[in-house]
Amino acid sequence: EDETGNGDDDRDVVVCVRVRPLLEGETQRGLFPAVTTTPANTTEDKIFVHSVEKKVTGLPRLATKDFGVDHAFGQTSLNEEVYQKAARSLIPIALGGGVGSLFASGQTGSGKTHTMTAIENMIARDLFQFAREYRCQQDGLKLEDVSDSADFEYRASFFELLGNKARDLLNYPTEVSILEDVLGQVQVVGVTEEQVKTPDELTSIISRGSSFRKTIGTAKNDTSSRSHAICRIKIKNLRRLEAEEGVLYLLDLAGSESASDSRNHDKERMQESVEINKSLTTLKDCIRNRALAVVSTKHIHIPYRNSKLTVLLKSAFELSSVRACKTVVIATINPNILDTNHSLNTLRYVSPLK
Ligand code: ADP
Ligand code: MG
Repeated sequence: EDETGNGDDDRDVVVCVRVRPLLEGETQRGLFPAVTTTPANTTEDKIFVHSVEKKVTGLPRLATKDFGVDHAFGQTSLNEEVYQKAARSLIPIALGGGVGSLFASGQTGSGKTHTMTAIENMIARDLFQFAREYRCQQDGLKLEDVSDSADFEYRASFFELLGNKARDLLNYPTEVSILEDVLGQVQVVGVTEEQVKTPDELTSIISRGSSFRKTIGTAKNDTSSRSHAICRIKIKNLRRLEAEEGVLYLLDLAGSESASDSRNHDKERMQESVEINKSLTTLKDCIRNRALAVVSTKHIHIPYRNSKLTVLLKSAFELSSVRACKTVVIATINPNILDTNHSLNTLRYVSPLK
């Protein structure tokens, strides 16, 4: 661990799992948790899944499988701890002109939105503070002499990907398109980019976008579990205009169960499932292959063109000697015994990334 307590400042990919507590209704239905974590501050973080082993004779028993991760957050972990250990280190990456990405992944109801919304608000709180500290370091000033984060310009967008369509959550339901321009840069054409100057402005954009998603989510044809919500914060260093812009991508991914949803749906819903599956699989491949490519002398293909989501995130997978890239994945788990198969799927999805 370094002096900030983050301990992963040198890692390009950080894999976290967060197990949420059972909700009151779940306990009332007689459910109990079947996923546990190592106690806080153990040297090696692990997740344990206790799944039912069918016996030919006698009562079924619980058998345990374990998965190693960089950070295992248990039922009693608070948002602030998850933020400090998993997300905060992305801020200096983005301020330094790099690409920081944070993904929440897991089944619907496991706590993705709960976790992401809290983290987004804490990022808003700290981004401007970091910017002041950054300026102090650059100029040898004292913190009290630097009033604002005037060296940086921030522009925030919030949009969602549903099937093959992208929609602006700050100007809903305007459709936007994701494309690569002639220079190979990915553009989200038509999306609202709002300049933010204070933490409150950023927080209010985030809650505006999230509330749209909530409204759509409670409608009869619930789309929030089948769409990826993307908050993008671009950061320009006004003192180094020649340098690349920093970016933070904060993603609340589609419910992982949607990827294998084979119920009898209409053609559009089936198409969405196919697209979700493709995007989640490609995302994993891109994160993993990029990590391999960093340490390999051979060429390793990073298949970002295989899905719209990964095309959007192209810059997060590029190999650059000047532009830092860091990816944090937070897999969220609903620990109740009836969701064990979903929990195992989630853990099998993220654990190879470590
Ligand atoms: P998802 O976005 O993955 O579908 P949500 O974030 O909406 O899941 O969480 C589902 C429910 O569980 C919500 O009622 C939420 O408040 C609750 N919840 C999720 N994570 C936690 C947590 N860590 N602590 C307490 N409640 C949680
Ligand atoms: Mg959600």
